[in-house]
Amino acid sequence: MAGTAVRGRLTWQTATVGSVVSETPSVRTISLEVPGWAGHRAGQHVDVRLTAEDGYQAERAYSIASAPGEPLSITVERLDDGEVSPYLTEELRAGDEFEVRGPIGGYFVWDAADGGPLLLLAGGSGIVPLRAILRHRERLGSTVPVRLLYSSRSWADVIYRDELGRPADGVAVIHTLTRQQPPGWTGYARRVDREMIASVAWPVAQAPLAYACGPTNFVEAVASALVAIGYPPRRIRTERFGATGQ
Ligand SMILES: Cc1cc2nc3c(=O)[nH]c(=O)nc-3n(C[C@H](O)[C@H](O)[C@H](O)COP(=O)(O)OP(=O)(O)OC[C@H]3O[C@@H](n4cnc5c(N)ncnc54)[C@H](O)[C@@H]3O)c2cc1C
Repeated sequence: MAGTAVRGRLTWQTATVGSVVSETPSVRTISLEVPGWAGHRAGQHVDVRLTAEDGYQAERAYSIASAPGEPLSITVERLDDGEVSPYLTEELRAGDEFEVRGPIGGYFVWDAADGGPLLLLAGGSGIVPLRAILRHRERLGSTVPVRLLYSSRSWADVIYRDELGRPADGVAVIHTLTRQQPPGWTGYARRVDREMIASVAWPVAQAPLAYACGPTNFVEAVASALVAIGYPPRRIRTERFGATGQ
């Protein structure tokens, strides 16, 4: 019933932590059990609300890391001076509870009907919703060609590194490491710029669909570069995490 679905999305629900997995020294993936979770689309996010013993509450948005049909999970990067992310990454244990609301968002999503080819551009934890898109594509058996350009500070900061190292057929993963590169690194070693995007991007004539996600300055630089090389703005979908991340 439509009314039930709307109420479910907007209502805070109790989530119980199933597991906490380290992705990098500062990033954890938290799987959540939410009774009656109605499912989600690839690219959506949830709001998380923490309540302290004195009643103080803090809310933050987190992209959904899992594909539709998989158990709900989020991936959080610790900002040392942040309010919420240090708790989620360092303090949480299996069995702990907090509140979630969602899924939220109908624009930064990919479904099979959206087609491709897909150009995915991630800065830091901006990889999270794009990982959900990649997993969704794979679970569907979609053959839409994908190129992912992923900017991280260093190899140790690459989130989902093993998973991205085994891409599905038709998926190319291109890394750039902006601050530190391992010995013998032959890949990109600078911030994403127009020239890099031009060499990675699908030709405009193929009518690609681009998704850019990460810190606000990353997303703005990438979106401007895409427009500069001729991508129509309506084929560029963006998600800004705020002045955080890289
Ligand atoms: C749609 C969406 C999806 C997101 N998905 C993810 C995700 O998948 N993974 C993820 O890790 N993050 C994600 N984020 C970011 C997330 O919501 C939080 O912003 C992030 O975790 C930081 O929260 P925090 O409470 O730890 O830090 P905050 O306490 O909010 O602080 C963030 C930064 O701002 C600075 N700051 C805080 N207050 C001030 C102030 N008054 N003046 C100046 N500077 C200040 C802090 O020093 C810190 O560096 C997403 C954001 C959005 C909008």
